Amino acid sequence: MAAEQSEQSPQSPRTEQAQPLHLAYDTALLDLDGVVYAGPAAIPHAVEALDAARAAGMHLAYVTNNASRTPQAVAAHLTELGVAAAPGDVITSAQAAARIVAERIPAGSAVLVVGGEGLREAVRERGLVPVASLDENPAAVVQGYDPTIGWPQLAEASYAVQRGLPWIASNTDLTIPTARGTAPGNGTLVAAVRTATGVEPEVAGKPLPPMHRETVIRTGAKRPLVVGDRLDTDIEGAFNGGVDSLLVFTGVTRPEQLPEAEPKYRPTYLAADLRGLLAVPPAVEELGEGAFRCGGWTVAAREDGRLGFAGGRGADPYAGLRALCAATWSAADAGRPVPEWHKALAELGL
Ligand SMILES: [Mg+2]
Repeated sequence: MAAEQSEQSPQSPRTEQAQPLHLAYDTALLDLDGVVYAGPAAIPHAVEALDAARAAGMHLAYVTNNASRTPQAVAAHLTELGVAAAPGDVITSAQAAARIVAERIPAGSAVLVVGGEGLREAVRERGLVPVASLDENPAAVVQGYDPTIGWPQLAEASYAVQRGLPWIASNTDLTIPTARGTAPGNGTLVAAVRTATGVEPEVAGKPLPPMHRETVIRTGAKRPLVVGDRLDTDIEGAFNGGVDSLLVFTGVTRPEQLPEAEPKYRPTYLAADLRGLLAVPPAVEELGEGAFRCGGWTVAAREDGRLGFAGGRGADPYAGLRALCAATWSAADAGRPVPEWHKALAELGL
């Protein structure tokens, strides 16, 4: 196919952004864990920032790869934390997976569900009938995370996949964070069925296009901004969907992951936390000879070839990181060696 993406990559530095993000975009597609909450508690500043963005007219939607909980349960959790949310504001990978299932099999068919209530409800919403056994003649298998899944369910899925039924996975995140540590995620349970059958599932969740499609269908967003904490789900999902993204540093990503990030992992904007949604993002200016300025920070190559900050310091160290990334990304994109950046990053004190 010869169709080209637009010339301006969504990850290109923006130089003419004059509005705060919550006014520049109509809808925020927000990741949950590491962005709005961490485990049971809200992340600092999240509740106030989301309130202010909503009051100013921004539509807020919550997008999760976790297929276990229903939108009602997620909305109730958010509301309990002080973030007013309705079930219709929550989009799950279960919904994206169920839409794929419905496109593959006749209306009203039975579907073998290996997962939780969130996945069963999403299957019912598409007019399909969730079943738990191959003996009930399912026409497809759909698999999503649930903490109660054990060998009998994985074996049932394997038998169905061996019969040649379409197999759709809500997501393939290998791990899931819990209060006691890192535990096997849906991707690890999917791997058991893949190993047993030699078959690859079709996958719905972030960073793949079905999840982004589901959010756009459900929110009607015209100009969405993806907000997330992970490069390989949230930011890559925005890249694959061709939309802009804001990375916040309240979750799993560390600043040192950014200077040499591949284009698909590069966010459009950076912020410490969700207050970044209310801010005018500092413009990135190219000064020539590999030097860039952002938010009062100027980064340039020193005599020894290393990057360093020259002149005054800006107020927001994440603007300095944005300037640093502009320098390393432009070198990488031009096929030049990426200048040494670790010392410059250390100067930011992040
Ligand atoms: Mg997250």
